[in-house]
Order: sequence, then C-alpha cells, then structure tokens
Amino acid sequence: MKKEMICIVCPVGCHLEIDENLKVQNNKCKRGEVYAKKEILNPTRMLTSTVRINSKHQARVSVKTTDAIPKQSMFKIMEMLDDVALEVPVNLGDVVIKNVLDTGIDIVVTMSLKA
Ligand code: SF4
Repeated sequence: MKKEMICIVCPVGCHLEIDENLKVQNNKCKRGEVYAKKEILNPTRMLTSTVRINSKHQARVSVKTTDAIPKQSMFKIMEMLDDVALEVPVNLGDVVIKNVLDTGIDIVVTMSLKA
C-alpha cells in the first residue's frame, strides 16, 4: 500500500508517494526521495521547548536540540525537561542535557539571561 506525504525539504512541497518497496514517486529531486525514506524508516524532528529557570525576570527559558532527534524519543525528552531547573546566568548554547538518551545530541539554551 502506498503512503503519501508532503516533502518539507524545500518550499515546492512535492506530494510524494512511497510504496512498500520504498520506491518514491512524484519527487522533483533526489532530496525528496531521501526525505521520504527517512520519514518511513527513522523519522526525526528538531525539538524546541522551555525549562524552568530561577530568575526574577522570567520563569522559563527556551531550549532546543542541537540536531533532529528520533520522533519516538520526543515525549521521553519532554518528561526529562520537566525535571530541569536552571540557575541564572545562562548563556546562549549552554548545554542543559548532554547526549540526551544516548542520541549524541545535546539540549542547549537558545538565549542568554543575566542574574
Ligand atoms: S522533492 Fe525536491 S523539489 Fe520537491 S519539495 Fe522535496 S526538495 Fe523540494
């Protein structure tokens, strides 16, 4: 049975079809084929969220993964971030969780905040 998906690699947004043998159709370029296969075999996403911070200016600070993580790890990582509480100051790029779930990917702060 064919699966349909929209390629999000570029603004063209090709409507891809991929069959059970991983044959991709309707892609205008090779990147669409790579995207469709990855979406079937190992879908990944960048994760952005916030964590608590002990600051008089704001209660939470934004964080993100340094690369796309396996989609099935999202909820587990969100639970881990619930337990994080940072202290000011923090700087852009500070590592909040290193090598999260052994993915080789870190969670980092996306802004600087003074004490
Ligand atoms: S298949 Fe190629 S042209 Fe089409 S949306 Fe994906 S990247 Fe863009």
